[in-house]
Amino acid sequence: MLNFSLPESPAHAALRALAAERILILDGAMGTMIQTLNMTEEDFTANGHIHGPGCRHHYHPDHPQMGNNDLLVLTQPQAVEDIQVEFALAGADILETNTFSATTIAQADYGLEGAVHDLNLAGAQVARRAAERAMAADGRPRFVAGAVGPTNRTASISPDVNDPGYRAVTFNDLRLAYGQQIDGLIEGGADLILIETIFDTLNAKAAIFAAYESFAKAGRRLPIMISGTITDASGRTLSGQTPTAFWHSVAHARPFTVGLNCALGAAAMRPHMAEIAGVATSLTCAYPNAGLPNAFGAYDETPDETAAQVADFARDGIVNVVGGCCGTTPDHIRAIADAVAEFAPRKVTA
Ligand SMILES: [Zn+2]
Repeated sequence: MLNFSLPESPAHAALRALAAERILILDGAMGTMIQTLNMTEEDFTANGHIHGPGCRHHYHPDHPQMGNNDLLVLTQPQAVEDIQVEFALAGADILETNTFSATTIAQADYGLEGAVHDLNLAGAQVARRAAERAMAADGRPRFVAGAVGPTNRTASISPDVNDPGYRAVTFNDLRLAYGQQIDGLIEGGADLILIETIFDTLNAKAAIFAAYESFAKAGRRLPIMISGTITDASGRTLSGQTPTAFWHSVAHARPFTVGLNCALGAAAMRPHMAEIAGVATSLTCAYPNAGLPNAFGAYDETPDETAAQVADFARDGIVNVVGGCCGTTPDHIRAIADAVAEFAPRKVTA
């Protein structure tokens, strides 16, 4: 049972009040911005000196770290903070921490399971600094969403075609890993918890359960944003759910928002977002990719093209929070913020 008797965090009421006035803006793709910096292995590891408490060689990883974007909150925190400030000044109200893969399960690929607490603590602190810098610049409050990714394992589906009962990870493995992540995010000052890019609802349910355990430890309940992803034309998540079924599977968490991110871009997302908006009793959030990736894995959709499609969501009255996922830059976020400004937020009627 999730404990709803805990006091709400102060950000909860502030977010609810803002969301009643207008469509809120979530930031864009950290990964896309990091790619433009062309960082080397030496950059990722700060010349082999991965910082940790008390010792510059604290983690002793035996794997290459290039591509481990989450590590940059420890080794290149200023670069991450500057990107988050750019997104904030482009119009983002909510800044995501750079912690999508900061669980023991996902960091096992890099041999950095031992760094997970520090990654989440630092990830939230870096985003908090960016939020404060942006607020000092223009006087608008910003909120930090602790980003919790799906991990690279699924609790519902066997990765072994010859053994359909096999699971590479259990609900309890995920619950413990997510709990460690969310504890660190809360300690670092996250205002919300964003459980995103959900392809397997059972993974998300483990994250929800873990979040409420962390809230009990912290003595306050943070708003939760829950975002699924639909990766093929069938309109179902990888674990086989329709958007309506997905909502009913996570409604028990009483999320601040529910919605979709990533995947096939805004045009393909629109009918599925409309379906969620028709059933959800929470606010809704959509942050699509900048279209489909090209043959080189890059995104060609211009800020105006993405913004025009996201504006259609707003015109249809199906969104309360919008932003961008893979391929979206500060220019995309600025264009999205401008394009939705004239539209009222979705009214929750269900
Ligand atoms: Zn994405």
